[in-house]
Amino acid sequence: MDLQRIGVLGAGIMGNGIAQAFAGAGLDVLMVDIDEAALTRGLAAIRKSLDRLVVKDKLSATDRDALLGRIRTATDTAALADRQLVVEAVSEDETLKGRIFQQLDDICPPEAILASNTSSISITRLAALTGRPEQVIGMHFMNPVPVMKLVEVIRGLQTSDETYRTVRAMAEGLGKAGIEVRDRPAFVLNRVLVPMINEAVCALDEGLASAEDIDTVMKLGANHPIGPLALADLIGLDTCLQIMKVLQRGFGDPKYRPSPLLQQMVDAGRLGRKSGRGFYDYQG
Ligand code: NAD
Repeated sequence: MDLQRIGVLGAGIMGNGIAQAFAGAGLDVLMVDIDEAALTRGLAAIRKSLDRLVVKDKLSATDRDALLGRIRTATDTAALADRQLVVEAVSEDETLKGRIFQQLDDICPPEAILASNTSSISITRLAALTGRPEQVIGMHFMNPVPVMKLVEVIRGLQTSDETYRTVRAMAEGLGKAGIEVRDRPAFVLNRVLVPMINEAVCALDEGLASAEDIDTVMKLGANHPIGPLALADLIGLDTCLQIMKVLQRGFGDPKYRPSPLLQQMVDAGRLGRKSGRGFYDYQG
């Protein structure tokens, strides 16, 4: 299927990056968020990211303007009625995503593919809430989307071969490597990455070392480009906590118990970069 009209639901950290990636490939993008302010912030983030490319001579000002011209916004999900592919990127909450998939199934044309950028939630379960489970798939982009080259393409139990082939080709058309992954809690990347972050939070909670020193150990000792706590701030501590809970529920294994400190940080609203404070302070 030749996909030209793309919908992105959610204009947050991931949604605006995903919208930028599709518009960058010449596609017509409609970005929807219930929060008008999130749309304004999302568009500003895209413009900032493109401006950086213009300054570095990697993009002309004309191409930047053309790309921005391919992204429209709306606050009403019903505006997605003519989309051929919708990528859902709302907050990591299964009840919310479930409601949205039912809504998208009612609104979108019968041939449309419904994808989720979920970090951890079962694609099979989201698909089962729709009347088109064979056209539901995971399209898990990495943060920051314009920079990161990977998309995990997650096949639910009922995802058809055709949907898989179309979405994988689309990921590759965006200049990303599309990797096929089975539908298990948190897939591959977050199954490995987030327990490592959780362990770093446990180490901090036990007073093993300071946040800066834990990050330095992993950068110098394991050659990681960014320490786990700084990475948690980038991902969002709420998202990390949700992923640990999905792993804990999904496998029923106590090794996935979220760190009490991670829970406490989220309870306090210290969500990382997006709230101005997490393990580090980003205010000012
Ligand atoms: P975010 O909190 O930055 O953005 C979520 C957006 O969804 C917000 O703007 C919110 O207003 C919007 N929203 C909430 N309910 C909505 C509704 N009913 N209709 C329309 N919009 C709604 O979150 P994020 O970090 O962009 O994460 C989005 C998804 O991407 C999550 O599933 C997350 O697990 C996944 N993900 C996140 C990362 C990361 O590093 N942050 C990486 C890969 C995948």
